[in-house]
Amino acid sequence: KIVIGILAMQGAFAEHQVMLQSVSTPKPIEIMLIRNPEDLSKCDALIIPGGESTTIALLARLAGLTEPLREFIAKKPVWGTCAGAILLSEEAEGTKKGGQELFGGVTIKTKRNGWGSQVESFEAPLLVEGLKESNRPFTGVFIRAPVVMEIRPSAMSQPVQIISSISPWLLPKGQQLVSLDEDETDPRSSCTVVALRQGSHLITTFHPELTKDNRFHEYFVKHCVIPSLGVSR
Ligand code: GLN
Repeated sequence: KIVIGILAMQGAFAEHQVMLQSVSTPKPIEIMLIRNPEDLSKCDALIIPGGESTTIALLARLAGLTEPLREFIAKKPVWGTCAGAILLSEEAEGTKKGGQELFGGVTIKTKRNGWGSQVESFEAPLLVEGLKESNRPFTGVFIRAPVVMEIRPSAMSQPVQIISSISPWLLPKGQQLVSLDEDETDPRSSCTVVALRQGSHLITTFHPELTKDNRFHEYFVKHCVIPSLGVSR
């Protein structure tokens, strides 16, 4: 069986659990809600949900999970959605004064709440490479979502593979432009990366767990988790 943990500090972990339960796989999946290092060590893979990345980081620190999580991420498949995507970034902008702890693991830079306050939340149809029935759009639910600012090459890591970008013309009509500082570019003025992979790590800046579509959960299990288990299991 495959043991998939969901980091259950704060945020949408219960929704991930429900979605994961609906995925049919060749091997049975056991889902564990992770709140301590001992349970984490039993997992083959992990999902870090959306929520508040500052709160999740703080609670993980208090639970003694920060270092175990970093070690886990260095070895095993991990998927971060929204706040989870921020936490998996090697650098994040727009974090609280004094900085915010990240777990790192993916060589990208994200910006918290990068879509601006006036478009804090929106839905948009996404085309995702490798998803089952990939020509059927996946509804991206963006809630104060981060924006991927940079994808960085790294000699130590596998290349980043973009699996979905959002085009400005796919955004819902009637949205006001956010007023940005002069040196900032509006993320909606060009294509913005919203889903990517780096080896067995998956990043989505939106919330697949808040839809009724389990194709992303299936994608994670099929393309990230199962290949990492090797043939012997
Ligand atoms: N804005 C949140 C953060 O910075 C992320 C929002 C979300 O996960 N829906 O952590």
